[in-house]
Amino acid sequence: MTAVRLLGAADIRRLAAELDVTPTKKLGQNFVVDANTVRKIVQAAKVQDGERVVEIGPGLGSLTLAILERGARVTAVEIDSRLASRLAQTAAEQGVADGQLTVVEHDAMTVAELPGDPAVLVANLPYNVSVPVLLHFMQTFPTLSRGVVMVQAEVGERLAAAPGSKIYGSPSAKAAWYGSWRLAGTVSRRVFWPVPNVDSVLVGFERADEPLGTVEERTATFRLIDLAFQQRRKMLRQALSRDLGGSAASASEILAAADVDPTSRGEQLTVHDFLRIARVLAR
Ligand code: SAM
Repeated sequence: MTAVRLLGAADIRRLAAELDVTPTKKLGQNFVVDANTVRKIVQAAKVQDGERVVEIGPGLGSLTLAILERGARVTAVEIDSRLASRLAQTAAEQGVADGQLTVVEHDAMTVAELPGDPAVLVANLPYNVSVPVLLHFMQTFPTLSRGVVMVQAEVGERLAAAPGSKIYGSPSAKAAWYGSWRLAGTVSRRVFWPVPNVDSVLVGFERADEPLGTVEERTATFRLIDLAFQQRRKMLRQALSRDLGGSAASASEILAAADVDPTSRGEQLTVHDFLRIARVLAR
């Protein structure tokens, strides 16, 4: 552990005033002002000394410093140039060793390369893009083997939902492509500045040892997932008919060949079921 001083509410406000930053909804800027909360996130992620961690949206550095305190090396991807350009100085002022932090000023939705092949993702995600940014990182950085992210409670519950539950949906099935997801704690809205309208949860993931299929199979599977959940109340033979031969009858045949009940609905299918349908289609 390095002797790093974490930020409190007064530090956050001082830094924001210095940078003339008024948090914006558009960028999902709700900064954590509580040292216990950022330590809880880092503990849930089991960040170890020397590990390579990537953080999405470091903001003013609350969570970044807690990751650095564990002795990890951090790459932080921030879209807001005012925040990105202040972060290295904040780290140095708070006792972080030279070379422990790399700041990348970029949109995390489109970043294609990261220095040092990070193994762990830790983030308080911008809420408006939390699912797409997470899927982009899982897809683009296969070295990421585990992580913990903070998201809106409703989104976190969806990510971790199992088939058959009401909240199981497209994000749940797509996330499951990459590995297993679990709820890892709740976070009160009161630890943020400004205070958001909703509570948050921590979601942990472990990437599966082997990819479920090829990139082409993933694209085809995700398309079927989207179609099935766009019309989630319809039976699959109807919801997927356009892509599966053009009629409910041809869709039923393909679904049966994939060992999926044509009268079931998307919310009952695992990602493996969707993949089997994609494989039958590709024959
Ligand atoms: N990590 C900080 C904390 O916990 O206090 C800030 C978290 S705040 C919820 C989300 C952060 O993500 C903000 O700093 C915001 O500027 C940044 N952000 C928003 N959209 C982004 C994007 N597309 N790419 C990278 N950063 C983004």
